Amino acid sequence: MGTGQRDLRVVVVGAGMAGILSAIKLREAGLTDLVVYEKADRLGGTWRENTYPGIACDVPSHLYSYSFALNPDWTQSFSPGEEIEAYFERVAHEYGVVDDICFGEEVTACDWADGRWHLETAAGTRDEADVVIAATGVLHHPRYPDIEGLEDFAGACFHSARWDHDVALEGARVGVIGTGSTAVQITGAIVDRVAHLSLFQRTAQWIAPMDNPAYDEETKQAFREDPDRLAGVHESLSAAFEGFSHAVVEADSPAMAAIEQACRENLENSVTDPELRERLRPDYRAGCKRLVLSADFYDAIQQPQAELVTEGIERIEPAGVRTTDGRLHELDVLVLATGFRTDAFMRPMAVTGRGGRTLAEAWADRPVAYLSISIPEFPNLFLLNGPNGPVGNFSLIEVAELQLGYVLQLIDRLRDGTCREISASQAATDDLEEQRLEASRHTIWATGCRSWYLDDRGVPAVWPFRFTRFREEMAAPDLSAYDQA
Ligand code: NAP
Repeated sequence: MGTGQRDLRVVVVGAGMAGILSAIKLREAGLTDLVVYEKADRLGGTWRENTYPGIACDVPSHLYSYSFALNPDWTQSFSPGEEIEAYFERVAHEYGVVDDICFGEEVTACDWADGRWHLETAAGTRDEADVVIAATGVLHHPRYPDIEGLEDFAGACFHSARWDHDVALEGARVGVIGTGSTAVQITGAIVDRVAHLSLFQRTAQWIAPMDNPAYDEETKQAFREDPDRLAGVHESLSAAFEGFSHAVVEADSPAMAAIEQACRENLENSVTDPELRERLRPDYRAGCKRLVLSADFYDAIQQPQAELVTEGIERIEPAGVRTTDGRLHELDVLVLATGFRTDAFMRPMAVTGRGGRTLAEAWADRPVAYLSISIPEFPNLFLLNGPNGPVGNFSLIEVAELQLGYVLQLIDRLRDGTCREISASQAATDDLEEQRLEASRHTIWATGCRSWYLDDRGVPAVWPFRFTRFREEMAAPDLSAYDQA
């Protein structure tokens, strides 16, 4: 039982999708003493940082929306990145949380002392908070490939998440390294603009077919007039994705087999040249790597000016990329669509918990948090989209909403005075981790491929249970899993 209402100060780190969500929901819950620190000068997170041609979300827009701010005006089933960024801007304004954001403030240190978090930013701002919510995103530290000579390239060279829009692609010889979701979207978007496109494929990808129709004005008007209809679309998409979540965690399920069959048929039916088809055919199961969805990739790679390069990269030279067969692929522009460092989370922020325990110590082996949310000995610090959560081909908005609903229930205990400090116990964290490792072995992600889902041991660093279990866990915290003081 609580001993009385306490006013809490909450700091949110990051003004991307999850940070904006936090500010809105904290305000709604009456927690108005809050600030969101954002390192950049604009909100939007991944949608601010990634501006490469073809960027879109491959989760349908009517699902990739806050459940409380559905958008009748999405232009397409899978709307472009720009539109998604504008959506977050609009929602943040409409819900009055933009003034809660301090831009240009990168939190560098976060220390637990005397029952509060003491924060410091790169600009020298100091602050204190009772609760910190780390809404720092998952895929935001670009991973540059370790290829000899990369810095010698004479043309323009940039990572997909640092796109240089001053570089003209028209008439240029462009190389793209990588065949993940990003490279596939870039390929489809630029192939018609360039003189020559060399796509450097280290590993072939399964591509699931995807239809991306535009919504006509009549449909949008119907959504505007009937919010229930819009909510129905959101709900049915959510249910469909829940079905997908069951397939991927049960590698031998009929549902997984059906997804694999759809990918195989897509390859067979879309690529006419048998030699190219075989070079595009992965030697592992569909869904093992994050499934790539695309409406135009196979078409793009069959264009006369496109070339799929499957020889390995030997080194990069001033004039282009030298492959292991000795050939020099001459290029004007080189795009590194080589993914992200996926185990950083809120790092490089230096976080020190109870008793001087640092995050670097706690995560010396690899990142772990109870239910992705709470770390033992780091009281009143909550992560959104933290380690080992449901990240594969799901709406991270839905995930963050569920997590935040859970976190607010923990915060309530601090607020009503039931406790002043709360963090997951080591025992509960270890126990869940053990269950997670066991369940991971049955997932599609563990069927033999290299992917960013795998940790340093080759164990999928994701939620390996059904999404239904995630929903149930998030509905109400099991308080026996928490140390409370
Ligand atoms: P990624 O899936 O990690 O793919 C990186 C690619 O770069 C892979 O093809 C990898 O080859 C290749 N690569 C890395 N280092 C290389 C090297 N040294 N030499 C040659 N090739 C190298 O990265 P991503 O495509 O940026 O996507 C990351 C994640 O972002 C996605 O899985 C997804 O979760 C998210 N995303 C989502 C969307 C969306 O529509 N929702 C769009 C883009 C991205 P290997 O396969 O051989 O490792």
